[in-house]
Amino acid sequence: MSQWRRPARRLASLAFLSVWATIGITAQSTGNKAVGASTAAAGRSVDDPDFARAVKEWTTKPEFSSPLVDHLPKVAGVPSPKDVLGHHIGEPKKLTYYADILKYYRALAAASPRVKVISIGKSNEGRDLVVVFVGADESIKNLETYRGYLAQLADPRPISDTQAREIVAKAKPIYHLSGGLHSGEVGPSEMLMELAYRVAVEDSPFVKKIRDNVIVSITPVADPDGRDRNVDWYYKYGINETEGRTTGAGVPYWGKYIFHDDNRDINYSQIEMRALLDWYLQWHPPIMHDLHQAQTLLYTFSGQAPQNPNLDPILYGELPMMANFEMAQMAKYGMPGVWTHGYVDMWSPGYLAFMSSNHNGMIRMYEIQGTSGANTTKLRLGNPNGPGNGGPSTGSGRAGGPGTAPDAAATTAGRSNQAQRDWFRPWPATGEFDWSLRNNTNYGETGVLTALQYTAAFPNVILENFYQKSRNSINAGKTDAVAGFIIPAGQRDTTRVAVLVNMLRMQGIEVGSAKSEVRLKEGTFPAGSYVVKRDQPYGRLAKTLLEKQTYPDPVTRTYDDASWTMGMMSQTEVREISDKAVLDLAVTPVSADVKLAGTVSGTGPVFAVAHYGSNNMITLRYRLKDLKVQAAEKEFKHGDATFPAGSFIVSGDAAKVRPAVEALGLTAVGLASAPDVPMHDLDLPRVAVYSTWGSTQDVGWVRFAFDKFELPYDLIYKDRVREGNLKNAYDVIVIPHQSGSGKRLVFDIDSRGTPIAYKKSEQFKNLGMYGESDDITGGMGIEGVAEIDKFAKAGGVLVTLGAASFLPAEFGLTPKVDAARTTAAFYSPGAIIDAEILQPENPIFYGYDKKTIPVRYGGGPLLTVQTGANPFDGPPATPPPTPPGVLMRYPGGDDHVLSGLMRGANEIRNRPAIVDQPSGKGRIIMFAGNPCYRWQNFGEFNLLFNTVLNFNDIKTEAPKPAKTDNPAQ
Ligand SMILES: [Zn+2]
Repeated sequence: MSQWRRPARRLASLAFLSVWATIGITAQSTGNKAVGASTAAAGRSVDDPDFARAVKEWTTKPEFSSPLVDHLPKVAGVPSPKDVLGHHIGEPKKLTYYADILKYYRALAAASPRVKVISIGKSNEGRDLVVVFVGADESIKNLETYRGYLAQLADPRPISDTQAREIVAKAKPIYHLSGGLHSGEVGPSEMLMELAYRVAVEDSPFVKKIRDNVIVSITPVADPDGRDRNVDWYYKYGINETEGRTTGAGVPYWGKYIFHDDNRDINYSQIEMRALLDWYLQWHPPIMHDLHQAQTLLYTFSGQAPQNPNLDPILYGELPMMANFEMAQMAKYGMPGVWTHGYVDMWSPGYLAFMSSNHNGMIRMYEIQGTSGANTTKLRLGNPNGPGNGGPSTGSGRAGGPGTAPDAAATTAGRSNQAQRDWFRPWPATGEFDWSLRNNTNYGETGVLTALQYTAAFPNVILENFYQKSRNSINAGKTDAVAGFIIPAGQRDTTRVAVLVNMLRMQGIEVGSAKSEVRLKEGTFPAGSYVVKRDQPYGRLAKTLLEKQTYPDPVTRTYDDASWTMGMMSQTEVREISDKAVLDLAVTPVSADVKLAGTVSGTGPVFAVAHYGSNNMITLRYRLKDLKVQAAEKEFKHGDATFPAGSFIVSGDAAKVRPAVEALGLTAVGLASAPDVPMHDLDLPRVAVYSTWGSTQDVGWVRFAFDKFELPYDLIYKDRVREGNLKNAYDVIVIPHQSGSGKRLVFDIDSRGTPIAYKKSEQFKNLGMYGESDDITGGMGIEGVAEIDKFAKAGGVLVTLGAASFLPAEFGLTPKVDAARTTAAFYSPGAIIDAEILQPENPIFYGYDKKTIPVRYGGGPLLTVQTGANPFDGPPATPPPTPPGVLMRYPGGDDHVLSGLMRGANEIRNRPAIVDQPSGKGRIIMFAGNPCYRWQNFGEFNLLFNTVLNFNDIKTEAPKPAKTDNPAQ
């Protein structure tokens, strides 16, 4: 390696050799003096000697820079980052708050006709979300025209191939860059400011060609709330760390609800992600490039297997082509450690930048070596032949158990040794060296400039491909086996159907409503059924989202979920249609979000509200909190209508009931008197949701769902639990999936002797949000477990989800329940599987009309409930088919895997999925899975909502007292 590394460096430093000239890099001094006429507004540029000196000083080894980024022009009248921020990008121990980042871009836009900033919304905490455009004066002046060209290529149905070629000749690709999706990955959001400035002002032929041929768009910080919180945390704790992380804890929150899952938010639940999608569908950038930092030294995504076969083969050619170009160019500049292929695969469509590939564009992604905050960090890359990479966790690192792990967690083939040479990593970085924020900037900016160089060299190819992929998607709908999907009208619960249709529409998928009854090979469907035809630009995306996921190679692992089938996740009926006649059905386009339209017939004074499984039932209960609401414990009929068990019986003013029921899309009838069925009051519980400090993300998803469905709760932490007296304050405590094991849930972040506070202060305004503590370390501890135990025994209801269900089993709160783990051979990245309801009359299953339902396998504990009270008794002679207290179980086995991948499906055979155990006067309800996973398994939410709403009326067959021949024992 070294024999060609050195000459490469020399080439880069000479920079006059013809090889550079031919690829558009001339010496910066020459290039920058050749000021074009179009820069008149900006004035003449010369290189800033202060910048060159600073960057040289902050770059820890010469090979960690390139001739693209070792200089920066100074232009009178156009502010460089230093002019606004007071320092050059990449200065050690300097991180920029979001307001200052925006201030910089706005100052740049005010000074340069080549930069424009548009607002696209507000973050959860009210920060402006923006997109910054950078390009030639002419491009920025005519942005609308260029947007129009791309829109025509994105939906080419109205145009011919000839017209498309004419548009391609006039259009320019938008190349979208995004930083700061993951708040701990701080470098790219700094770097992008310098990139924007450079693209706007540098007059080297290299940059000029980019500026002329490409429109660069930038999301400066995809999660600005998390950015500011993380920068606060850095200035409070991280800046004083000398090597790696010594505080032992990361900031407890990034965004309001979630951490890394903003890159797994497949249904765009978070408003920041949704704002970007809405922007995307207006602007259609053919490339979206998300900049992360977790790998050594720069990993460039190439779409490796397992790949989603619905995506266009053109894309699978484009991805490695660009990645390999970057790898070759950066090797040429003498930069080691650039690699591709061996990290993230192309299976899950839920990554944020995948919105591009899902819409016939191209997702791109980097993982750039990070630092600990903005501190220069020692990297130890170890033995190139040894196992694993010894580099520190930088960027994403924070406390937290498995399941909340950062980017580096679930590699496709296990984390490969990044110090080792491989065919996809021809020049690994090895040994020990310091790594600085400026190194991170140099790598990121050189990579991005190289990607832009490629795009500027072949803008027409990028655009032709974008057009062709769009055209192919339409054609695929006409020729593929799957021609469309029907979501039949007349489903019991219309609210989840509406949610599903609205989610498809949000993604730009066209949905129609059948004008008359539909007769197809697959059956007859009523008028008003929703029809998704595949011969549309995003027809492939519709297939990806709605079909059953058939995992292509069970031997490979995948980086995220293996399945996401929307009909199963929401437990709504979606029919796959092969009959090509579906393409010609007369439909009325659904041109706006499906509005919920509930019905109320009759006038009361009593109203029966049918429980058809809508998640809005719990919302209704809280909206009618001042009225008496009961649940019918048995099905009853009124006229032609059947009201299933769990239906609400509301006594009260029609003027209150009617609008609430209608707005929530529910079905109610007024009755002269309450029906003659057993009922119980739906008392409103006082609910607490427990969170550790070290693993808040999966709790965040439950909080998000509770907030959306208007279920009030207190978010409590270890300090409140240790205080005790929980039963006086709460009726229900929910411990969401978190931490990975009971022990980690209880002891959480290691205490290293020094308290770590998460509190708001004058200086750190973003800390102490969503809870605060003088010391976030140490966990609830054994004292906390004792208080939880007391809470249940005093009559409280403890609900544990997923991995949190290890706690009651491991700490003896449920003496008859054991929790084990699957073997190493078992592998199931979120398969959708069957679950069998064993006690359908239990209120937890109100609204479910099938005995077997599809659920997402959450990887929680393998539960066992002992059937005998005394293990010395040995097994009973005729064991019951299921132990008492098991309300739902997994049938297990390959036949019950509905979508995605589960290796070793026999390991979960007949394992409990929901267990109810008495505890003193109260009870403990354990979910092995996670009924509130991301914003995805809507069909399961009601298992949790019903548990909360019927907390004091859960009637489970009581465990029979064990028969013992020796009562004295
Ligand atoms: Zn990341």
